[in-house]
Amino acid sequence: MNLPLSPDRLWDRLMEMARIGPIPGGGNNRPALSKLDGEARALLQRWGEEIGLSVTVDRLGNMALRREGRDPARKPVLVGSHLDTQPSGGKFDGPYGVLAGLEILHALHESGTVTEAPIVLVNWTSEEGCRFSPSMIGAAGAMGILSEETVLNAPAIDDGERYGDALQATGWAGAADPAALQNAAAYFEAHIEQGPVLEAEGHDLGIVTGGFATERALVTVTGETSHAGTTPMEMRRDGVLAACEMIAAGEAILYRLAPEGRMTVCRFMADPGADGVVPGGARFAFEYRHPSNETLRRLLDEADAAMAAIAARRKVSVVREPYWSFPRVAFDETLAARLREAAERHGARHRDILSGAGHDAYHAAARMPAVMLFIPCHGGVSHHPSESISREWAEKGLRVLADAVIATANSKDQ
Ligand SMILES: [Zn+2]
Repeated sequence: MNLPLSPDRLWDRLMEMARIGPIPGGGNNRPALSKLDGEARALLQRWGEEIGLSVTVDRLGNMALRREGRDPARKPVLVGSHLDTQPSGGKFDGPYGVLAGLEILHALHESGTVTEAPIVLVNWTSEEGCRFSPSMIGAAGAMGILSEETVLNAPAIDDGERYGDALQATGWAGAADPAALQNAAAYFEAHIEQGPVLEAEGHDLGIVTGGFATERALVTVTGETSHAGTTPMEMRRDGVLAACEMIAAGEAILYRLAPEGRMTVCRFMADPGADGVVPGGARFAFEYRHPSNETLRRLLDEADAAMAAIAARRKVSVVREPYWSFPRVAFDETLAARLREAAERHGARHRDILSGAGHDAYHAAARMPAVMLFIPCHGGVSHHPSESISREWAEKGLRVLADAVIATANSKDQ
């Protein structure tokens, strides 16, 4: 199909979106459900309405921009990503997928092409998880992974503001049923890789066949708070030192059992965290990721045993409470094959790849055939203001995504 896709228009829109919430170094700080997030949404809505898309917003703030198909009986094909960023975010993590989807709909509109099934562009609420935990919470609510009530009551990590209250304050609490998005034929998400593999190997695109199994937990260590000058070392029950030893043990376990996996302490809090005080408590967000469910389980079991032994020796208690986890995600092979065929057609160098990062597509994959397409980013840098992509990668990703989305919307068996 010869669709009048405009890679320049996509690029210009990426740059215009990046003017909302700019930070030094060329990046963005556009937290979910902030005033800036509201501005980004309004811009997307305006662009969508200019090409005749009907815009609905659900009770969790997820935006759906719909272009009707020829056959009213067909379920829509979804394409989307997110517009919120990390506090030290770049211009492309999230917006690339949303605005590539918008460009497909724009080209269909301009050429007067009608697909068999409707196509719906989705901007999921609060993907990043830096303010409302867990990550991908809006998609989790829509796909029924978390209840609507759980999502609306999620407290902000910084000031405890409820998700539902922040949503009301931005003016983006809609009336639509979030679960309506489950009733779709397929979900596509284009995204930057956020890792260094594709560029290093000279690939233009990654066909994402699945994602790492992941478990993130809040670990709470409880000892006893005392005076930093007067309490002899052997009489302390220092929560922070115990936590540090547990973290080092967790890393050693990964290197010993499965160095191809990932281990991260995303946050660390000392309690009470006051000068001159031996901190009796510590809390940290601790996660492992691995391509195999079984290996992830083994890593967690060994870490639990090591943490318990350290706690006993240091006379503190430890509790590990998982709050964000999913098994190995498998994306849909039919959709992946469409992306591969399109990549061949456009002369894009491509490979299959697993995602180490979590994405909204993981939750969509629980309810419908789903797939992701990665474009490289320079040096693998992401969640950083200097995150960057080439125009060539942006264009190849757009053309391949467009072919696969439209083929799916026109396919008899979708
Ligand atoms: Zn993202």
